[in-house]
Amino acid sequence: MNLILMGLPGAGKGTQAEKINEAYHIPHISTGDMFRLAIKEGTELGKKAKEFMDQGDLVPDDVTIGIVKERLSKDDCKDGFLLDGFPRTIAQAKALQSLLSEMGTSIDYVLHVDVPEENLVERLTGRRICPTCGATYHVIYNPPKQDGKCDNDGSELIQREDDQAETVKNRLEVNMEQAKPLLDFYDDKGYLVTINGDQEINQVFKDIQSAIEK
Ligand SMILES: [Zn+2]
Repeated sequence: MNLILMGLPGAGKGTQAEKINEAYHIPHISTGDMFRLAIKEGTELGKKAKEFMDQGDLVPDDVTIGIVKERLSKDDCKDGFLLDGFPRTIAQAKALQSLLSEMGTSIDYVLHVDVPEENLVERLTGRRICPTCGATYHVIYNPPKQDGKCDNDGSELIQREDDQAETVKNRLEVNMEQAKPLLDFYDDKGYLVTINGDQEINQVFKDIQSAIEK
């Protein structure tokens, strides 16, 4: 089963990806992991990608697509894969379509874990981190035993700059603008399944299962 997972930051994609991986034994392939692996294995494309990344530049599409191809050709993908963070643009989505058709396969579903923006703001701005041990908390979903203090060492918890309301809202806007054309693209092709991500974790996963086992 060939899946693409989409969703805004904070929508719980990582958790669902883990569950999909456990239940269907298909590898969870995130863009970051894919680049790290290519660089570690020292493939030609990995070396190219590293040059761009070392300069602080975006890796061009042809290199990225090449790395995706290398990754999807590995043995562990023979029964399928779960792509996460790729494609990001229509150009990449089209390149992926041709790559998969070259490989004699295609996408089965694009799962969009959908959570209303205001809930994402609540989820993301509620994160707190211990500067001493790195433990993470959430003021609503995973509060420390004592307000504002780390359970492990009693340090004063902090909010990362990235998790402050204005920054979070901006990040979500940018992501939404980027995702919109892709969601439309996959909707037109009939691959898109929208999953209500604003539910308890196990219920979200049940909805994913019933969508892909149809
Ligand atoms: Zn701590």
